[in-house]
Amino acid sequence: MTLGALLSSLASDRPAITCNGRTITFAELDARASQVAHALVRDGVRPGDRVAVLTRNRTEWFELLFGAARAGAVLVGLNWRLAPPEIAAIAADAAPALVLAGSAERALLPSGFRVVDLDSDHEAWIAGLPTTPPAVPVAADDVVLQLYSSGTTGLPKGARLTHANLLFTPRMGATAYGMSAASVNLLASPLFHIGGTGYGLTTLGLGGHTILMSEVVPSAIAAAIEEHGVTHAFFVPAVVQMLLDAPPGPDLSSLQVIAYGGAPMTEALLKRAIGVLGCAFLGVYGMTETAGSVTALAPADHDRPELLRSVGRALPWHEVAVFDPVTGDPSPVGEVGEIRVRSGQNTVGYWNRPAETAATLTADGWLCTGDAAYADADGYLFLHDRIKDMIISGGENIYPAEVENAVAGAPGVADVAVIGVPSERWGETVKAVVVPADGATPTAEDVIAYARTRLARYKCPTSVDFVDALPRNASGKILKRTLRAPYWP
Ligand code: ATP
Ligand code: MG
Repeated sequence: MTLGALLSSLASDRPAITCNGRTITFAELDARASQVAHALVRDGVRPGDRVAVLTRNRTEWFELLFGAARAGAVLVGLNWRLAPPEIAAIAADAAPALVLAGSAERALLPSGFRVVDLDSDHEAWIAGLPTTPPAVPVAADDVVLQLYSSGTTGLPKGARLTHANLLFTPRMGATAYGMSAASVNLLASPLFHIGGTGYGLTTLGLGGHTILMSEVVPSAIAAAIEEHGVTHAFFVPAVVQMLLDAPPGPDLSSLQVIAYGGAPMTEALLKRAIGVLGCAFLGVYGMTETAGSVTALAPADHDRPELLRSVGRALPWHEVAVFDPVTGDPSPVGEVGEIRVRSGQNTVGYWNRPAETAATLTADGWLCTGDAAYADADGYLFLHDRIKDMIISGGENIYPAEVENAVAGAPGVADVAVIGVPSERWGETVKAVVVPADGATPTAEDVIAYARTRLARYKCPTSVDFVDALPRNASGKILKRTLRAPYWP
């Protein structure tokens, strides 16, 4: 099975995608995807060539994905929210044969790329071309999508995903999310992240209706839920927060399941969301390299308070386990190690990064996530930072989350991140970066003294910086490498 074949099987007059008031049926999506495929072939795009897309969310994105799929090409999602030099670096890395860009976003791209403007040129680009697929051989194991990781721990890396990887997504929709052809799915996450395109394929691949938001505006999201009778949605924690803070009004009672994930969600926010929205909640954990979610905290698990901090356990068709990151041995229950995943969703490797690919994919089929966690006796995972953020001080492994949880309770502390900084004596030593609460003026000595009442001495901060805010990316992840940068050569 390929993405193109899946789309052919769904062609009907049912609505596929509604975006900015315009609805396209599955039959129209099917026809237009074939026209895109013919346009790519006509323009000299060969199987395996990359075709980049730089635009806010719009229906054409999925026409391009299925069109690239039918032309044997690889769609590369570019993040228009990045600064132009960052976009330039990723575009240079991907070396696309062609870039499809919105009129507003194309200005972010350096010169030297062949560009089709999605606003002014796209219709003419596909006009008159056949509405059935070109005769290009395409296989399930061909790469079809290259999405870049968020760049939280280093430079964004292009994860190459195959048709087979992405075809798991609708199965997950049907089982974990309880979706069907009758579902109406609100898709507000940016399509250049896996939480956008991958999540969109859950419903699209089942023949359900996707409501695609071009911008994340809480009032527009709420209005769309009421207007279309939305049954399912996925939000990163920052958007859940925005929705709860938006003025009430629209009727949100059609919502059946809200999935959340992508970044840590505080228990307080989750409890508030459950209380206010009243629908089922599904916690998911995954990454670009696993083509989306590989674990889930099921709706019923949310009744058990001790699980609210868990990202759940392996979805049925994935193996997810915790290993000692150094020895590679399985970690005992309750002991922190690295999450590894063996799954048909695993990337076949990064684009242009053989060393990182080799370090990420093991010979026996595991993908090393770089996430630190422990599992309880039932396999529920509790995330504990990134392995890269682990501090090794005097030979002891220190996971910042444990220190952050302790320091967060100190008087006058509103927010905290913990990093390792160089130490001649210990190799690394613990530093807390603290955002003081409004009006409070805690001192470094106060913070350190408080930590010492709660933590083993070697885990306690030896220094404290005070800042106005912590650097975060759009999903709400703290950019620890930005905090570490001044201290490391
Ligand atoms: P990079 O790999 O470039 O450093 P990134 O890992 O943030 O960036 P993504 O692939 O977008 O890039 O994000 C995946 C990561 O997000 C996971 O490895 C994990 O650390 C985090 N994450 C995913 N789901 C959750 C969740 N439910 N709760 C907390 N963190 C999560
Ligand atoms: Mg990552």
